[in-house]
Amino acid sequence: MALFGKPKYTIVRLRKKEIPDGLWTKCEECSETLYNKTLEENLRVCPKCNYHFVLSAYERINMLLDKDTFQEYDKDMVSADPLDFKGPKTYKDKLAADMNLTGLKEAVVSGEGKLDDKKIIIAVTDSRFIMGSMGSVVGEKITRAIEAATKNNLPLVIVSGSGGGARMYEGMLSLMQMSKTCAALSYHRKAGLAFISVLTNPTMAGVMASFAGVGDIIIAEPRALIGFTGPRVIEQTIRQKLPPGFQRSEFLLEHGLIDMIVHRKSLKATLSQLLDYLS
Ligand SMILES: [Zn+2]
Repeated sequence: MALFGKPKYTIVRLRKKEIPDGLWTKCEECSETLYNKTLEENLRVCPKCNYHFVLSAYERINMLLDKDTFQEYDKDMVSADPLDFKGPKTYKDKLAADMNLTGLKEAVVSGEGKLDDKKIIIAVTDSRFIMGSMGSVVGEKITRAIEAATKNNLPLVIVSGSGGGARMYEGMLSLMQMSKTCAALSYHRKAGLAFISVLTNPTMAGVMASFAGVGDIIIAEPRALIGFTGPRVIEQTIRQKLPPGFQRSEFLLEHGLIDMIVHRKSLKATLSQLLDYLS
């Protein structure tokens, strides 16, 4: 009989308790694991570090407008592929993939509704659809929304979440949307009507350089990335290190590019107050 036999215990490997998908989300800023239900109740803001998660266009509309008052415009407008664009992925494939992913037909949802019983025109870009970039359809839907506001004497709120700027799959046609939306806004302004632009993370490039940047009042969510060109390209071009917090809401407020930073929880109340002042 062996003096030292097999140990009389068995090694039990404890399997990590499996976490079912869709119950938890990891905060992108502080890495805290958050229970989805808590996150939803907190309007998708991290309770620990205040990071504002991306919202879909419909989540944003539901958050801002009074229940069942939203009437959508141009819901079925879809992009053509004027350049017959072929890259690693064709434009047609990219559109189909993002339609499938988001359930949207394009990167903006627009329409009319009531905010605290005040009638407004609203458009919201959705950064999940080709980075919320502005092609012909986004430009056209936003322009039509602005024109509806002018025609019906209504204030306008546009919430932008767009890392993509102008949509390069459509080349020149996407750039033309920048002047088209701004031209429509100038008629809205000439009619003495208010336009409040709300910038969310991220709002960049051709969107920031057109309609999103010319609000009578420009509001941003905390710590949103807002700018024209990304910081890396700027650093390479000017060969200088950029200051900390560059292109974040707080930096831009300090330098006068935006008017106020509003926490998501207070956004509806703030918009309601501003609409009262401005009308
Ligand atoms: Zn966090």
